[in-house]
Amino acid sequence: LLRVDDLAVAFGRGKSAVEVVNGLSFSINEGETLALVGESGSGKSVSALAAVGLIEARGGRVATGSAHYSATSGESVDFARGTDSRLRRLRGLEIGMIFQDPMTSLNPLFRIGDQISEAARLHQGLTRRQGRALAIEMLKRVRIPDAERRLDQYPHELSGGMRQRVMIATALSCNPRLLIADEPTTALDVTVQAEILLLIKQLQQETGTAVLFISHDLSVVSEISDKIIIMRNGRKVEEGTTEEVLLRPHEPYTQMLLSAVP
Ligand code: ATP
Ligand code: MG
Repeated sequence: LLRVDDLAVAFGRGKSAVEVVNGLSFSINEGETLALVGESGSGKSVSALAAVGLIEARGGRVATGSAHYSATSGESVDFARGTDSRLRRLRGLEIGMIFQDPMTSLNPLFRIGDQISEAARLHQGLTRRQGRALAIEMLKRVRIPDAERRLDQYPHELSGGMRQRVMIATALSCNPRLLIADEPTTALDVTVQAEILLLIKQLQQETGTAVLFISHDLSVVSEISDKIIIMRNGRKVEEGTTEEVLLRPHEPYTQMLLSAVP
């Protein structure tokens, strides 16, 4: 579904360039959940943003087996030759994204209903009325009660956990085949965290959407991921099934991370 090979990202130019992702490769298959885990600053968010073309990579290749573009050959972007198809995968509705920074995810000036249906309206040419119906359906799907009333509210009128659900609804509004969730539970208290995790897991089972789940917390990802990649300083240090990484880690660094898990 998504395959990233030898991804490299650097910020700054010339001698002052700082490499933040180096030689990262991973792939996500249909319906699978891959967790990208690492400490703060290890390059998780940058990797995800570069993989979908939102920030420029310095090198590497990305391929998606796309139903929208070319189901047989897949689409391939060679970053060394420029990113002309930037955003295309996101715009092509193939990938839904929940950004780490809530400021980038929900617009404080948009009502909840418009927020959720905007992408679908743009891409599928829905009318206002159809957009509203879709937003209600999505709010129900992320278990927000009283959906009709919520539609006309603004993000600041919701609790943090509800805003997180709205972000998930927005990301899923176009039925993406891959959902990227960048630390979707970090800002929430423990009970709400568990609810959101359960929700993502349920949605994954209902819709078969693949998930790239980003977190700094190994104990969180163990609940929902099939495979885990551990990142450190922009590089992959360990990769395996969830069971392999949690029960039989090879790297001392992974063992160190695990020892911090209660
Ligand atoms: P966290 O768990 O805190 O979200 P992360 O693993 O997601 O951390 P990234 O956001 O990927 O970390 O950042 C990796 C490195 O890249 C950091 O050192 C960060 O300062 C740097 N970085 C990120 N975005 C930019 C940018 N736009 N310009 C310059 N440096 C950046
Ligand atoms: Mg991050």
